[in-house]
Amino acid sequence: MSADKQSTEHHQLATQVIHGGKAPQDPEGALVAPLYQTSTFKFSHSDQGSARFAGEEPGYIYSRLGNPTVTQLETRVAALEGFSAAAASATGMGAIAATTMALVRSGDHVLVSDAIYGCSFALFSDLFERFGVEAEFIDMADASQVTKHLRDNTRFVFLETPANPHLKLLDIAAIKTAMGASAAKLIVDNTFMTPLLQHPKSLGADIVIHSATKFLNGHGDVVAGIVCGDEETIADIKMTTLKDMGATMSPHDAWLILRGLKTLDVRMQRHCDNAEKVVSFLQQHELIKKIYYPGLASHPKHDLVGSQMQRAGAVIAFELHSDEQGARAFLDALDMIALAVSLGDAETLIQHPASMTHSPYTPEARQAAGISDTLLRIAVGLEDANDIIADLKQALDSVASRWRDSA
Ligand SMILES: *Cc1c(COP(=O)(O)O)cnc(C)c1O
Repeated sequence: MSADKQSTEHHQLATQVIHGGKAPQDPEGALVAPLYQTSTFKFSHSDQGSARFAGEEPGYIYSRLGNPTVTQLETRVAALEGFSAAAASATGMGAIAATTMALVRSGDHVLVSDAIYGCSFALFSDLFERFGVEAEFIDMADASQVTKHLRDNTRFVFLETPANPHLKLLDIAAIKTAMGASAAKLIVDNTFMTPLLQHPKSLGADIVIHSATKFLNGHGDVVAGIVCGDEETIADIKMTTLKDMGATMSPHDAWLILRGLKTLDVRMQRHCDNAEKVVSFLQQHELIKKIYYPGLASHPKHDLVGSQMQRAGAVIAFELHSDEQGARAFLDALDMIALAVSLGDAETLIQHPASMTHSPYTPEARQAAGISDTLLRIAVGLEDANDIIADLKQALDSVASRWRDSA
């Protein structure tokens, strides 16, 4: 096949999740590229070995430095996010740590959104501090705050949108504008949206990161991450923090994610359809006190849905007219819906932030962050929406009746 015919850059994303990037040519003509489950690569002669190490000849050396199956995933996700390169990693945190640590040295400053994933928060607040990098956490809902807090030594601005636990939305383009002529890189964690629902590069992001554990893989059987950027940035990450701290991706995981990615478009549409139906149901149940979902007109920055974000996503948070005991009784009454952290899987998952993802917070910090004892987060899966709703209904009804009886 000619290089021209393989080029997919003009294709739509639904095609690119299947054909994007370049696939290794299989001598047997296999439809699916083979899995290169190997730790190392043989050199045909000593000159080839030295030439590869010297970077004078392209080719693989050792799987921590690169592997054809991992490369295939990298080129596909880079194409989806509109970047020229990507680096895959063992976990989402592996990508976030390798990326951000490649950009800083002691004495630097970084600006971080106050609503980010818990381990990203720990990385920037605890580990960065140990190495003399100051992380400043600010509310970026008002983008002018970014301008105010930028310094000459600010290396990056890091954000996530929508973000746990209240699905906080940030305006990526407004934040890029607020960064003005700063040399700081804008890094967006696009895990909740995927490139199909939100395209941070076209809004000004310099680097886009994913926990591929979630929607990209989509089947709950892999922990993985990936970072997309320009060639120079990605080469730097690959040759320093990723290679030397070693959180690189297993070829088997890359192969599974390539398989999962093929259905990303159909999955995301179904996830969003189901989430909208679940929200409509929750809205009219007596036990529901408040719903946090970007698709609701009442949600702060709801206007970004349909502009920055194609759809509202599949993660919903809600609070009950009850107490922690009631919230736990509701969770324990669920039948099909799995009580588990994570998101983006075929199975609908639900968790209780106060006692799970946000349990390291002190009670005071939890209260300040608005994480009440009855706040629950549901990651809506791909089952028939009627079955998801039926399970929620029977569990909510059981708590509501107990609640009425005790009142
Ligand atoms: C899960 C998650 C991460 C961390 O990814 P892992 O694959 O668990 O390391 C980072 N950011 C967001 C938004 C996540 O949901």
